[in-house]
Amino acid sequence: MNIDIKSAHGLIPAIIQDSETKNVLMLGYMNEESLQKTIETQKVTFFSRSKQRLWTKGEESGNFLELVDIKNDCDGDTLLIQAKPVGPTCHTGADTCWQEPNHENFGFISNLETIIKDRKENANADKSYVASLFEKGINKIAQKVGEEAVEVVIEAKDNDDDLFLNESADLLFHYLILLQAKGFQLKDVIGILKQRHK
Ligand code: AMP
Ligand code: ZN
Ligand code: ZN
Ligand code: ZN
Repeated sequence: MNIDIKSAHGLIPAIIQDSETKNVLMLGYMNEESLQKTIETQKVTFFSRSKQRLWTKGEESGNFLELVDIKNDCDGDTLLIQAKPVGPTCHTGADTCWQEPNHENFGFISNLETIIKDRKENANADKSYVASLFEKGINKIAQKVGEEAVEVVIEAKDNDDDLFLNESADLLFHYLILLQAKGFQLKDVIGILKQRHK
């Protein structure tokens, strides 16, 4: 990596991207020292223009950005940093600084749905289990949901909490895939529950 921050007049913009969902999380500025600290600590650290000091994202909130990869752009004046967010990245509590105010946010479930959608649209079925399910089609996915539901029922009757919780996770995961295959998301189902609640 050959990043010449000096030629970029001291501060260089850094686009922070979620390494898994590929969402753009935030933008910050870096100087040489903050870039060095980012690499040393593996936690994304900016030079804050408002604080006029090094600022490790998450230093107060604990919502650190764990470094995955740093890339220079074509002409060496902008960084693309891939990171794993420990928690919400925006100080408003949203996952990204561009989340619409009324965006239905189910935290980790929303991230999972984004990944599932990506596997539906882009992924190689040889490498991804989820992509291979989409390739087999809705009937197969629905059947899988049925199987996992039966496994939950079976484990509910036993006393093994671990198995019950694991089958529950299988069920929820395959249900999210089925929703996506039908062109829906969990928020559509929750919307109906909220309507009924009125
Ligand atoms: P944190 O680094 O998450 O502990 O937050 C410390 C302070 O930095 C917050 O109180 C905000 O003022 C600011 N801040 C946190 N996250 C962001 C962000 N994504 N964009 C801009 N400012 C932020
Ligand atoms: Zn550039
Ligand atoms: Zn923000
Ligand atoms: Zn199962």
